[in-house]
Amino acid sequence: MGAALEIRNLHVSVEDQPILQGVNLIVRQGEIHALMGPNGSGKSTLANTLMGHPAYDVTAGQIIFDGMDLLDLETDERSRLGLFMAFQYPVAIPGVTVANFLRNAINARMKDDDPDSKGIPIPAFRKMMIDKMDLLRMDHSFGGRYLNDGFSGGEKKRAEILQMAMLEPRIAIMDETDSGLDIDALRIVAEGVNRLSGPDLGVLVITHYQRILNYIKPQFVHIMLDGQIVESGGDDLALRLEEQGYDWVRERQNGNGR
Ligand code: ADP
Ligand code: MG
Repeated sequence: MGAALEIRNLHVSVEDQPILQGVNLIVRQGEIHALMGPNGSGKSTLANTLMGHPAYDVTAGQIIFDGMDLLDLETDERSRLGLFMAFQYPVAIPGVTVANFLRNAINARMKDDDPDSKGIPIPAFRKMMIDKMDLLRMDHSFGGRYLNDGFSGGEKKRAEILQMAMLEPRIAIMDETDSGLDIDALRIVAEGVNRLSGPDLGVLVITHYQRILNYIKPQFVHIMLDGQIVESGGDDLALRLEEQGYDWVRERQNGNGR
């Protein structure tokens, strides 16, 4: 049985302003979910809350991951449990190569599990990185570049996806909304998700960009409006969003029928 991320009746306030107002959602390993919704509906608030950002105040509800209450855990503990969050605005670290950064990330985790761990041996690390790069169809020279230093938007996304591939999370949350999102970056993320997806990985892709559905085939599509998930479905919902946008969702919420 795979692990599940269960969000139950989640209420979140930011600066005493209620934003999420009773979100319910279950993402299991092996499932791809898309969370969509207009700007300002609360999608990023949900993503930030899942990772434990201190500005987001959970006023009611629960987040359970693999049977554990996430709200009791710090961000790094959540990550160690197998929750991965792709950063919307990754920082540049000049002087640290992508490979070094990834090896440090893996070693830090191994040392958390076992203080006597010497970390991953370099040959094993190299092999793993090459395998993952091949899986993602990335150029091997990427590992030798300084992390995010002078990277294009698309290259930053590649670095993110490679990090996800190396850390092998059980559930990945990718907030791809709003500014800075070009179709190229979107395609890279979508292709990465498609190549990494399998029975051990659950993904929640967050976007307001309907076109992501041209690249990713989520089994589940959810629409967030005013801090609640107001519609959930499959391909049918994706198709309807692509054709009609969000207006019908709002109209239905306002009681104006279809
Ligand atoms: P989305 O990602 O769907 O566009 P957000 O979660 O970013 O929506 O925003 C939902 C609402 O919460 C907006 O009204 C936004 O102004 C507010 N909000 C979110 N994060 C913050 C924050 N860190 N500080 C102040 N307001 C915030
Ligand atoms: Mg957002």
